[in-house]
Formats: sequence, structure tokens, C-alpha cells
Amino acid sequence: MSTSPEKTAAEMLATPAKFIKGVGPQRAEVLEKLRLRKASDLLFFFPRDYQDMSELRPIVQLEEETPLSVCGTVEEVDLRNTGPGRCILGVLIRDDTDYLRAVWFNQPYMQQRFSQGQRVLFSGSAKRQGMRWEMVHPQVEYLDPGQTAPAGRILPVYPLTEGINQGKMRQIVQHVAETCTEAVDEVFPEAFLDEHNLWPIRAALPQIHLPSDHGALQQARRRFIYQELLVLQLALALRKQTLTTNLHAPQLPTSGKIDARIVRLFPFELTADQRRTIDEVAADMARPFPMNRLLQGEVGSGKTVVAVYAMLLAVAHGHQAALMAPTEVLARQHYRTLSESLVESKVRLALLVGSLSAAERRKTLEAIAAGEVDLVVGTQAVISDKVEFHKLGLVVIDEQHKFGVRQRATLRQAGLDPHYLVMTATPIPRTVAMTQFGDLDVSTLRDPPPGRQPVHTYLGDEERREQWWEFFRKKLREGRQGFVITPLVDESDALQVSNVESAFEHLANGELADFRLDLVHGRLDPKAKDAAMQSFEAGDADVLVATSVVEVGINVPNATVMTIESGQYFGLAQLHQLRGRVSRGTHPGYVCVFSDGANEEAQQRLASFADSTDGFELAEIDFQMRGPGDLLGTRQHGLPPLRIADLARDKQELTQARGDAQQLVAGGELVNNPEYQRLLQMVLKRYGKALDLGDVG
Ligand code: ADP
Ligand code: MG
Repeated sequence: MSTSPEKTAAEMLATPAKFIKGVGPQRAEVLEKLRLRKASDLLFFFPRDYQDMSELRPIVQLEEETPLSVCGTVEEVDLRNTGPGRCILGVLIRDDTDYLRAVWFNQPYMQQRFSQGQRVLFSGSAKRQGMRWEMVHPQVEYLDPGQTAPAGRILPVYPLTEGINQGKMRQIVQHVAETCTEAVDEVFPEAFLDEHNLWPIRAALPQIHLPSDHGALQQARRRFIYQELLVLQLALALRKQTLTTNLHAPQLPTSGKIDARIVRLFPFELTADQRRTIDEVAADMARPFPMNRLLQGEVGSGKTVVAVYAMLLAVAHGHQAALMAPTEVLARQHYRTLSESLVESKVRLALLVGSLSAAERRKTLEAIAAGEVDLVVGTQAVISDKVEFHKLGLVVIDEQHKFGVRQRATLRQAGLDPHYLVMTATPIPRTVAMTQFGDLDVSTLRDPPPGRQPVHTYLGDEERREQWWEFFRKKLREGRQGFVITPLVDESDALQVSNVESAFEHLANGELADFRLDLVHGRLDPKAKDAAMQSFEAGDADVLVATSVVEVGINVPNATVMTIESGQYFGLAQLHQLRGRVSRGTHPGYVCVFSDGANEEAQQRLASFADSTDGFELAEIDFQMRGPGDLLGTRQHGLPPLRIADLARDKQELTQARGDAQQLVAGGELVNNPEYQRLLQMVLKRYGKALDLGDVG
């Protein structure tokens, strides 16, 4: 009996790592740490970088500050200790023309990697040191005795782990690329490749692992970057389509009468932005499938009003609505403001948070299930935990910058699905919005309510600390309130970051001795936290000394001054959030950030923060500086990580892929045209579970 050729190809790709040439059982265990288990894993194990060997020069022809490679023989290896835990390793090499010394600081283990007479290739920027060329921390290639230097090559640099070096990894992957590439099937129809000027996979694979030149590398990378982004966008487009066609939600349209009744409850005129956003939300809620809308708006832009409108719209139709906040403090604040604005109405409100007693909780749950409650306010954690609603029409998720696409699916219920409104004050760069929230419609509140004053931001200077406190006290004496923010709660922290309790002691006995101080941090139980927040809100305390727990949502319009200590420990988005706490009323706000001992990167970040009050601009800067990981990493959002595409870099490919994906899905081609079967399977395999695409295809 003979196996069909197709089976052979599949078998080749499934070859366990240990049977691959150059691997063996021991190295297979090392590869396992990189999740490289079979041939296809290695084939699609893309280099994280490339080492350009195309500019190989004799040592005598080196140029200062120009990255170049040289090839030579090791003459001398010498390690000198220069202090506790400090050392300098020097490796002297020569070629036919001159000598060069490579230097490593504080990496004693590098010594073992060199021996006299060994041939090596160093790449980096050389510098003239006295009579001799020197390269600090060059990249190293080890050459076999007779091996010619890989001049003219661009070498792949793979992620590694303990137990395998770059040379070995290259050998293994190269072997797999040579033997298995032909076993890989193309996922795109030929016409599609042509139309999009994409290289076929069998051409791109060898070139991504060992490019023949820059042009080829470019093409090969483009093929895989585009493919990765397209697959993700197809998944998101499918999800969106599934939501609109498979799910059913109650139709909750607004009307002149309902609108008038709701708007009357607000103590102010809606801004034009709020009105437009409310109209968008109301239009969504009138449809027979769930709304899935993201409302992003600057801190203090008045998102809550939009949420309240939507909730009251649901209630007007006899449905329940749930408002979920990320913290109990914020949930309680929402509950209080809602209770106040709804006293005149017949709307029944309940609070559902972790610190309720068992009896309170049971009573509340029963009332919700019986339909005796119209609006439920609580934390995400508590509400998504098996609460049974009588007739849930709308879910609002406030300050959702930490949960993603997947978590939103948690409130499923039997029968009709609710509408979803997600709010965030962390402006989301466009490319990220297109991915993490790619299945959402987006509304943006840009303009603050009228009468808002600007926030002035200063970078604190230790020498002028006293001057700042003088100003801080002056504002307090004028009747304003203030925050002092410190980053960590834990005394034991090795960095000895100023800690909130000692800061509190210090201030209470020093700079702010004449004022009423309160303290709030993450270690307090939610009720105590809430009590502190409430007393601050009510004006019973002048200053709140706090960790970043006040970061999200807290609304105290009378607070206008803020001191941030150790600002280098906060991200840009977080700093902007914090600053938002003192720009919520009709007095101008003042923030001073101290950052003693901050490194250069942190200083740069803080300088951007002081320079711009535009959250969208800051989000973009943060994204460029730190990548999406910190802001909205795919991992924490329940989507598998991107392997080759980079959202900050590959904007153009992303936009293209998104457009193409929407077309393929909307036209039904992806699902119905057999030519796209493979692509569809790939989409489902990679994202089906994460995005709940079970019944597609
Ligand atoms: P955020 O968008 O940060 O959640 P909030 O919804 O908490 O902002 O609103 C911030 C403050 O602005 C609140 O005190 C709110 O009452 C006030 N506010 C909201 N909309 C308006 C408006 N149209 N006119 C005046 N004040 C408003
Ligand atoms: Mg808010």
C-alpha cells in the first residue's frame, strides 16, 4: 500500500522535532521551550531580526560610526576585573591588514566563547581608540576553519533559549526550509496573489529564512506580514458578521417623547459631541441585533451621560441595564451619582459589588432575577459571575481598557442578547482599534463640556519642591482640593520608591500639616477605599494621598492640584488618566510630576506628558515608544500574539488587510468560494476559539 503524496507532505510537516536532522532527543527538549515541536513549527519560526553581512571589509578599511563586518583570527583574549561585579573582556583579532579589539563590559561568560586561533566575524560600529580599531559589543559569528566569511549574505537572527546557539538554530531551520518548503500549501488563490503583488508561499519561505538580498527579504516579509494581518482581520470581520446575523437583541428605539424624558434628568445641556454619540448609540439599539460600540473619549469628556442615556432607553422599553466598572470604588461612585439623578424617577437601582454581605447579595440577586430592579451597577467581576437577569437589554462596560474582545462575550444569556456599549478614556491608536476592537463600531467624544479649564503640567525639580508645595497650599486655602499620588504600596520594595503610607505620615507632619488628609490605596478593603473617596468627594478632606487607585473615572470637580511622586514608574496613558482627575471642573488644574533618578527613556516620556494634553497624541507616542504590549497587548486580550506583524510599524499593510478582509467576508467569498477554503480553515484554526467563531464555515 502506498501513501498518497498529499499525506506524505502532511507527514513531513508533522515530523517531530527530535527526528529532524541536527536535533535529536536532547535538543528537542530545548526546542520544546520555544514551542518548536514539529517541522512546521520550525518552518514558520520567523527570525526576530537579520544580521547584515553584506558589508564585509578588511580592518584597515573600516570607517567610524558605520556598521560594518570584519573577519579575522583571535590573537588574544583578556578579562580584567574593574570593580565588584564589573569587568572588561577584550578580544583581539587580526586579518591581513590590521588588528581590531572587541570589547564586552560586565559579561565575563563571553570569555569562554573565544579561543586563540579561532576565526570569527564581528559586526558593529567600530571606533578608533588610539592606534587601534575597537568595537563595543559586536555581533559575533563563529567560522569553521575552512569556511569563507558569509559576505554578501543577510543572516537570520532567531529567538533563542538556553542550550542552543544561533549557528545551530540556523542550521536546523535551514535544513527544514530546504526539505519541507515544497510540502506547504498555498492559502491564497493564484489570482489573489497576483492582484495583491504577493509572493507565493513556496517562494517566500526560503527567503524569509535566508534572503538572497534586501529586495527579496522585503517581499518575503511583506507576504507573511500581510497574511498574518489579513487572517486576523478576517477573523474579526467574521465575528462581526456572526454577531449581526446570528444574534438577536431587543429593538429599543428612542422617540421624541423618550428623549425628552431622559434629557430632562441631566442638569446641563448635552454637548454637540454627546448628542451625536447618543444618536449613534440609539440607532444601534433600535436594530434587532446587538449593538457592539466602543465609546472612546478624553478623560472628563462626559461619557457617563451617554451611558446613562442608553440605560434609561433600555428601561423605557421595560428592559434591564447593567453598568460594569473596573473597580468597586468606581462602581460605588456611579451608583451614588445615578441615585442622585434618578431620585425623581421611578427607576429602581441596585448595587452589586464584592463587599456586599452574603444576605445583601442574595437579596439583590433575587430582585434582579425577578425583574424588581431596572439598573444594576457593579464591578465587572461580580456582574459577569453568573448573575441571572430577568430581561437584560443593555450592558455598559466603563473604563474598559484592560479587557478585550473575548471578555465581552461573557454576559451571554438565554434568549435575546443584550446590546453592548464599551467605554474607555484611554484613547486607542487607530491601528490598535482596528485589531483589538476590530469588531466594534467606534464613537469618539473629543470636545470637553463647555467651561472646562486647561490643566497645567510641570516637571518637578527637586530644588524647587518647596515652591511647588507653597503653591499647592495656596490652592487648598482658596478652597480647592488636591491629590498626592505615589506609585507603590509595598514598604518592602527594593527600589525604595516613596511609599504611600510614609508619604502620608511625612506630609501630615510636614508640608501639609495644616490640612485634612485622607489616605487610599489598593490594600484597603473596598468599603474603606470607598469611604475615603466619599469623604474626599464630600469635601471632608482637603487632600487625598493615594496610589494609582484614583486613576480611573473618579470625579471630584473641586480637586485641581496634584503632585505625582516618582512619575517614572507610571506609563503615559496612566499619567494622563491621573491628570484627568484635576480637570473636571471650572477651575484650571495644576499637576507637578517629580521623578528623581529617572532614566533617559522615562524622562523622555515625562517630557512628552508635560508637552501635550491631547490624550490621542500621547497614546500614539506611548504606542510608538513601548509597543502595543503595555497599552493593549494582544495576549492580555485573549487573542494569540502576532508573530511577524507589528501594529506600530505595519500600518499600511494593516489598512490594506482590513479593507480586503471586509470585502471577502461581506461578499461571502471567504465562506462560499472553495478557493478560499484553506484560508478560512487557517482563520478558524487560529482565531476560532478566541473569537467564538464556532458556527462559521
Ligand atoms: P468621563 O468621560 O471621564 O467619564 P464624566 O462622564 O465623569 O467624564 O464627566 C465629567 C464631568 O463632566 C462630570 O462632572 C459631568 O457631570 C460633567 N459633564 C458631563 N457632560 C456635561 C455637559 N454636557 N455639560 C456640563 N458638564 C458636563
Ligand atoms: Mg468615566
